[in-house]
Amino acid sequence: MTANKPQNRYDYDVVVIGAGHAGTEAAAAAARVGAKTVLLTTNLDTVGQMSCNPAIGGVAKGQIVREVDALGGLMGEAIDATGIQFRMLNRRKGPAMHSPRAQADKKAYQNFIKFRIENQDNLDLRQEVVEDLITEPIAEGSDRLATQRVVGVQVRGDAAYYARTVILTTGTFLQAIMHTGKSQSAGGRAGEGTTAGLSGALHHLGFTLDRFKTGTPPRLNARTIDYAGLEEQPGDEDPQPFSYLNDAITSPQMACHIAHTNEQVHDLIRANLDRAPMYSGQIDSRGPRYCPSIEDKVVRFADKSSHQLFLEPEGRQNCEVYVNGISTSLPRDVQDAMFRCIPGLEKATIMRYGYAVEYDFSPPTQLWPHLESKAVSGLFFAGQINGTTGYEEAAGQGLLAGLNAARLVAAQTPWVPSRQDAYVGVLVDDLVTSGTDEPYRMFTSRAEYRLLLRQDNADRRLTQQADELGLIDAARRERFQNKRRDIERGNELLKAAKIQPPTGPVVRGDVYLRRPEVTWETLREQVPELGEIGKEAAEQCTIDIKYAGYIDRQQAEVHKQSRHAEKSIPVSFDYDRIGPLRTEAKEKLNRVRPINLGQAKRISGITPADLALVLAHLENHS
Ligand code: FAD
Repeated sequence: MTANKPQNRYDYDVVVIGAGHAGTEAAAAAARVGAKTVLLTTNLDTVGQMSCNPAIGGVAKGQIVREVDALGGLMGEAIDATGIQFRMLNRRKGPAMHSPRAQADKKAYQNFIKFRIENQDNLDLRQEVVEDLITEPIAEGSDRLATQRVVGVQVRGDAAYYARTVILTTGTFLQAIMHTGKSQSAGGRAGEGTTAGLSGALHHLGFTLDRFKTGTPPRLNARTIDYAGLEEQPGDEDPQPFSYLNDAITSPQMACHIAHTNEQVHDLIRANLDRAPMYSGQIDSRGPRYCPSIEDKVVRFADKSSHQLFLEPEGRQNCEVYVNGISTSLPRDVQDAMFRCIPGLEKATIMRYGYAVEYDFSPPTQLWPHLESKAVSGLFFAGQINGTTGYEEAAGQGLLAGLNAARLVAAQTPWVPSRQDAYVGVLVDDLVTSGTDEPYRMFTSRAEYRLLLRQDNADRRLTQQADELGLIDAARRERFQNKRRDIERGNELLKAAKIQPPTGPVVRGDVYLRRPEVTWETLREQVPELGEIGKEAAEQCTIDIKYAGYIDRQQAEVHKQSRHAEKSIPVSFDYDRIGPLRTEAKEKLNRVRPINLGQAKRISGITPADLALVLAHLENHS
């Protein structure tokens, strides 16, 4: 809609729509860098709610949480304060694969996030349902592609919020339909409604929308589970915090348990496939391949006679147990019957039935890398609305969108981490360059420089930049600087130390530490001053030294690749004027509008020859 004169008008720099994982990080980041921000959300009791799994982190996702934290975000501190079980996954593999994951006390997590939002300066939180976007045309002659500019949002009732920038983080709520068996209802999450108006508004503004689906498993009452025969899965003995602000996790940990499906369960599922919305044709949108429903698993892996189920408590003062591994939209009676056949769960009562949800998302190739839309100036998108799945992916995008919306208001250039700086950089580059044809989640395999993007060094990669951007406070700055000094001192001590190995000549401490059998602790016995170095700094010194060869090789590769990659391409660059450029290449480049040659190179189907033509044209006309 275009601007009108509502009865109640509120003015801000940044309006964020939706207080999920993307929205809360977006609002907090915009406010931290000084923008007058409001976060509007349907229900204040669901701020920061985990729609599905009560867990944060995991492979590649844990790395994103560490990055969000290194940039001053909320997620790391929230899970540290409210986690009930912490595990470092892939501990036996190299450091690039180490990935922190924690079960959360779901309600406590949500309250923590809400409290932080309520206490953030420059930020108002308000319960509102946003129904429309207010835009106005941009006069011709602007050097941007956009023909419209967002100026605010219309909410249900007689009020509008005006702002220079608006961030859409509405998750699974656009035109959402939930399915359990043949039963369907409108809503983006059990017990909640859907958002219809915004899909219409986006269509009206010329955006393409597509549909995805995702599913969730049933929740059981812990009291009705027979844990005696189930395998216990404890947390780590020395749990590691997610936040660089915390030294340790001291809260008591809770155990998870493992159960198994069997042929009886699989037969039951096969016999009822015609009642499963995904197989009966009731749902035809695409879901996450790597996170299949139990129906999918039984069909796709027909030779497997059993699948693992992880029973994950949803909180300390809560009997609900999340059954990870059995996401389903089968009818209620089949869900009940499945558990009757699973040892340990024969008497389990379902507290919430599993369901699938279909929703609109906005293909992210419609965005610039800083997450502003190409068509409507000032309108940003972050989170599940961009076709991603997962709290962590949402949080990373949210933080970036919030920061860049505030920077646009302040007439500053956007900031986007590169693929070699952060998984968040990989995430947004993949999204805006290639789009996604299934819900996108992060994997370590998506990052070409994963030895550089470790969970342990996110602060060394990002916190200095976060400080320059105004994203972090004095306490974090001081902690980071102390750690950096500690790392330097550790390296000096190692270089100065003369070590006598059991055999052979005396060697320097750093040379000795390169040996696979030598650890920081063994060295400390011979160099007592190393005891002054903090645990995290000692870990960094050790990794830097032990993996120096691999790290140097990746850094050299980054250097080589970035020679031409950083050459920027003007927004209004006219690909059609490059005569010899293939029509297919013109179409793709016009659609994606890469901001530099590096991004152009990553567009599928763009060849080195196409790039050479673009480069030549750029150089001849600059
Ligand atoms: P959300 O967390 O959904 O937050 C959106 C917020 O916007 C909500 O607070 C909502 O109330 C608010 N909102 C919506 N419309 C409006 C409006 N018009 N006005 C004001 N406020 C509005 N992820 C996985 O990684 N694995 C899974 O297996 C998985 N399964 C899922 C199953 C289900 C049933 C659902 C619903 C989600 C699942 N997810 C899963 C996804 C995960 O929940 C999301 O990726 C994550 O929550 C996305 O964060 P977000 O901030 O983008 O959106």
